[in-house]
Amino acid sequence: MSNAKTLPRLLVLGTGGTIAGIAGDALRHEYRPGQIGIDEWLEDAAHLGMQAELTGKQIANLGSEDIGPDVWRALHSAISDAMADDAVDGVVITHGTDTAEETAFLLDLTLPATKPVVMVGAMRPADAVGSDGMRNFVNAVRVAGDPEASGRGVLVVMGDRVLAARDARKVRTRGTDDAFRGFPRGSVAVVTPAALDWFGKPWRDNTSARYAFPAEFPRVPVLYATGGLETWTAERLLGDDIRGLVVAGVGEGNLPDPVRQLLVERAQAGLAVVRASRVDEGLVDREPEDDANRFIAARALNPQKARILLMVLLANGKGAPDAIQSAFDSP
Ligand code: GLU
Repeated sequence: MSNAKTLPRLLVLGTGGTIAGIAGDALRHEYRPGQIGIDEWLEDAAHLGMQAELTGKQIANLGSEDIGPDVWRALHSAISDAMADDAVDGVVITHGTDTAEETAFLLDLTLPATKPVVMVGAMRPADAVGSDGMRNFVNAVRVAGDPEASGRGVLVVMGDRVLAARDARKVRTRGTDDAFRGFPRGSVAVVTPAALDWFGKPWRDNTSARYAFPAEFPRVPVLYATGGLETWTAERLLGDDIRGLVVAGVGEGNLPDPVRQLLVERAQAGLAVVRASRVDEGLVDREPEDDANRFIAARALNPQKARILLMVLLANGKGAPDAIQSAFDSP
């Protein structure tokens, strides 16, 4: 890491999203994400006089609903190179907010925590009245340029909050106030362009990567539960080609009995079945019958994050329910 007299050298990886989006019209809804290239973005940022040397690399320019294994792999490889490069002190990723929590968590699980890696997005396009993109970006640069940010895994900066990747959730579809929240842990720091305050020490005692990045992502669908959900919905997801299933259950990860019976049969035959909750702050603990059913409890992970962790575990050869459960239990 550079000493106090030299500016931190940060690699900025662009993937698109609203932060790179154009509203086109101040009053009409003409908005398109992923329009501004990373070089143009950094040119716009240059006049702000940020205390960092920024180098850009375009990984993609997409709405994050279209971000999946190919972009994940390209990000992982670019950041792995940056981790090994003495000329890079930290990484900022610009990303759409819709699936930022999934990409951030995947990278958190599969990258070392030796240098700051910070994901940032925006709720309003770059040319919208009251756009939050550049403000969030300045905050993200401030976090990524702080040596204290390492040892905390991938961080997500939205507004003036800094969230850990495992906790970060998008909780509002629009508006800049509190669009993201941390669960079960709230903000791990607060940041403004002028100040950065950390709450507590870095938590990654072993900073090496926890899991290998998947060579292939196994098929893991999410079954969204409703009152009276019928078995045909589950049957359509339960092809022979799936390796795991995440339930977005009602309440504490519950399902109507006929659907639960169907999943018990598949879990006892070796399918990894994780019970998560469709409730926003849905903590799902193990229940006594989970042992016999061979179900896994998602604990504090929401269904989309549970899916990421389950894919990583299965790709890393960890398919036994107790091994999967202990990964869901460890923060
Ligand atoms: N759907 C787009 C995306 O996730 C725009 C949403 C956003 O970035 O806030 O990239």
